[in-house]
Amino acid sequence: MDFTIEPQIVEKIQKLIADNQVFAITSHYNSDGDALGSSTAFAEILRQMGKTVKIVLPNDYPSFFRWMNGAREILTFDRNSKEIREYVKNIDVLICLDINELTRTEALEPIFSECTKPRIVVDHHINLQIDAEAPVSFHEASSTCELLYHVLVACGFENYIDKSVAESLYTGIMTDTGRLDYSSNYPEVYYVMGNLLRYNVNKSFIHEKINQVYSYDRFSLQATVMKENFVYLPEYHAGYMTITNQNKKDYNFQLGDSEGFVNMPLCMRDLKFVAMFTEYEKGPVKASFRSKGKFPANEFAGDYFNGGGHFNAAGGKYQGTLSEAIEVFRKGLEDYKEKLQ
Ligand code: 5GP
Ligand code: MN
Repeated sequence: MDFTIEPQIVEKIQKLIADNQVFAITSHYNSDGDALGSSTAFAEILRQMGKTVKIVLPNDYPSFFRWMNGAREILTFDRNSKEIREYVKNIDVLICLDINELTRTEALEPIFSECTKPRIVVDHHINLQIDAEAPVSFHEASSTCELLYHVLVACGFENYIDKSVAESLYTGIMTDTGRLDYSSNYPEVYYVMGNLLRYNVNKSFIHEKINQVYSYDRFSLQATVMKENFVYLPEYHAGYMTITNQNKKDYNFQLGDSEGFVNMPLCMRDLKFVAMFTEYEKGPVKASFRSKGKFPANEFAGDYFNGGGHFNAAGGKYQGTLSEAIEVFRKGLEDYKEKLQ
């Protein structure tokens, strides 16, 4: 795998950073470990250079990422919309991480679309749609954090990598690969992990903070969803699960509580494709998709749920009820039946 960044792009990034003072970093709605890891790492590097920088996200993020350096200062549109509007008016450069379309910043999209300042993008999704002065986009990469490491090294910013930056980058690679389960079948990702560990990354602390923080409610929600809300459809080698508003009430649902649920049925030998549909009091049903092998989860998400993502991990939305979303999903399975055999 070759993630060599073109020299002209490296120069542009170096110059955009050297010549400017005020930066905003953004990422996608419902930020995950990769979005938060890359954002907090880049923010810390810029801070060390004496720049003014704020991370600006569409909504809050799971509390199990709160330990990351700088995470507590993140501004989110749902809480700090006024401050964000004012701040973005005065930025010199917008940095977009782990995102290929500005629409994935949801309510922030109009603010960024209006902003005419140059953009740096580092991303690993297929089909980059953001106009940027300095785009770095490799969809074969495990994570944005892996790519950001290469960007930092190529730009000569390696000296700014410290323990906290390395811990942020490590987190993104670890979470986006499902603890090196998928998207990591090449040596370079281990080279990056190995280099990050040299900065005294506290690996067991990170694992404990992210993977061993379930409340009893969260654990019970998981048990209920797997036992009562999972439907196996062996004729399609597929299945789906739901999380209803009632489930959320019953188990005092907190942001991030359903993280990882959609991956669980993949351990079934005969299952190739799985979906999770989450109901919301306000707004559309959220769909998450995971596949194994050659089934294109992103294509399916694009065809039926106005979404996209990676080949084996994708998502989208459905404007309608949970049962309508399931109907659409089942119709999609019928259309894709041959690819699922
Ligand atoms: P998750 O199921 O964890 O929410 O999302 C998995 C992947 O699917 C994300 O990394 C992202 O690439 C993609 N994804 C999730 N939701 C959406 C969406 O609404 N639109 C698009 N285009 N991609 C999405
Ligand atoms: Mn990612």
